[in-house]
Amino acid sequence: MITSIPIDKNEILKFYKPIAVDTHKGIQGHALLIGGSYGKIGAVSLSSKAALKSGCGLVTAFVPKCGYEIVQTFIPEVMVLTDVKKKYISNINFDFQPNAIGIGPGIGQHEATQKTFLKLLKTNTLPLVIDSDGLNILSQNKSWFLLFPSRTILTPHPKELERLIGEWNSEEEKFEKAISFSLQYNVIIVMKGAPTHIIDGETIYKNTTGNPALATAGSGDVLTGMISSFLAQAYKPIQAAVLGVYLHGLTADIALPKTGFQSFIASDSIDHLGEAFLSLE
Ligand code: AMP
Ligand code: MG
Repeated sequence: MITSIPIDKNEILKFYKPIAVDTHKGIQGHALLIGGSYGKIGAVSLSSKAALKSGCGLVTAFVPKCGYEIVQTFIPEVMVLTDVKKKYISNINFDFQPNAIGIGPGIGQHEATQKTFLKLLKTNTLPLVIDSDGLNILSQNKSWFLLFPSRTILTPHPKELERLIGEWNSEEEKFEKAISFSLQYNVIIVMKGAPTHIIDGETIYKNTTGNPALATAGSGDVLTGMISSFLAQAYKPIQAAVLGVYLHGLTADIALPKTGFQSFIASDSIDHLGEAFLSLE
């Protein structure tokens, strides 16, 4: 038997911070989303929009050159920095201090991308979310696990989880392996699925929101943007993960009567963030 803490409205209201009336964009958090490669700029576009729609004051997307106009057109409120390379990221370089970084959506696994990701891991001290091909790059370079800043959030779907922690033969074994990984590297694992569980050492959370409408392209990219946004707004890493997972599921529950399962797409999640936040007021 796996015992877990349900992620429900009660749990969220223990730490949820409504926006202060006297805030301004300069203190509302700045999230940096790093991702995209040729043909996969949509992933980082969705993450960036979701981050901004989750309350942080500023969002910068770092993308290959081919992503510049795509991101700016998709979401003009996001600032865009570009790599020197056209189709992939080869040299992550920025001259400002974000409050949190999300890396991985659509980033691909080019050798140069792997190298610059390693450099970032070696020097970064900011709160960090790693998703998608960011996780797949790590799975091929397991010695890099030692470079995770403490409390890094990893957001694997089941296949990405298997690449990280190895195969399992039962649910119990999956949880055991995830717990020992989380303890060994001091990371938080958002084990995405139906339902999503969050592993924080020996503490396990189980989400109560969400439905199969979320089984659609770009869903995870939206979640990465949301969690990055909450980290940038100075939520503790475990709080950012819990809040992100809860609200992400809730967007799909709110949208479902309008979209049905089939017609829901990841952008619908973003479009229903407002109603999800209002349900917490
Ligand atoms: P990804 O595979 O990275 O796009 O992430 C998929 C997202 O959708 C995760 O947040 C999953 O928890 C969620 N999701 C996928 N399928 C389901 C499902 N059947 N029920 C609830 N949530 C789901
Ligand atoms: Mg994904």
